[in-house]
Amino acid sequence: MNELEKLRYHLKRGFENELTVNEDGITSHVDTINHCMLYAFGEYIQEYQTHCTICDQLFVLIEYLIITLLENFWVIIEESRDKLYYFLAYQARKVYLNNQFKAKLLELDNNGAILICDYKIRILPKSIRETKEQFFGKWGWTLHTILVFTKHVDLQLNVQAFDHWSTDTKQDAWFTASSFDAVFEVLDPKPKWIRIFSDNGGHYYNSELMTIISN
Ligand SMILES: [Zn+2]
Repeated sequence: MNELEKLRYHLKRGFENELTVNEDGITSHVDTINHCMLYAFGEYIQEYQTHCTICDQLFVLIEYLIITLLENFWVIIEESRDKLYYFLAYQARKVYLNNQFKAKLLELDNNGAILICDYKIRILPKSIRETKEQFFGKWGWTLHTILVFTKHVDLQLNVQAFDHWSTDTKQDAWFTASSFDAVFEVLDPKPKWIRIFSDNGGHYYNSELMTIISN
């Protein structure tokens, strides 16, 4: 149990702290294979000399469970393993993206703007659903948020938040484009360049949407 607790703590906290990204947003080779982001992203070229013994415990544990437990547990073990791998992938992506954001924020001048966009689906709690149903539709509504970071002439950081919601819970390109359009309309002064961030890539990685927005 003690070993498991150590592993759990490392996966939740330690692992994330071991991942390193330089100030300019570029990540370089780390000799411990478990903590190398280049390895995680499949971009490695150098050899690795060391392993993290705590991270490795995850593979040891899974193998141990498969050998020790009966066959009818295998599906559950494999599902749990996949979830844990997904969790680690998510941690790596989060650290990488946060650092990209920090690096771009350093580059931000008073000609540009950095936008962070995200979709949130809000379903109304049952108690207020009856009263607001007509307004928000039967299944809740979609909330799209855009945070706009700009710098003034004195390089003071300025943050504006724009929420748009739709009663249509389908997150379509038209709604997304409309949200961006509404933000572009009110930005004053108009930035000469923008950079858009999202940790919800799937909703934005769509050629129709990218064409509309860049236009
Ligand atoms: Zn580790």
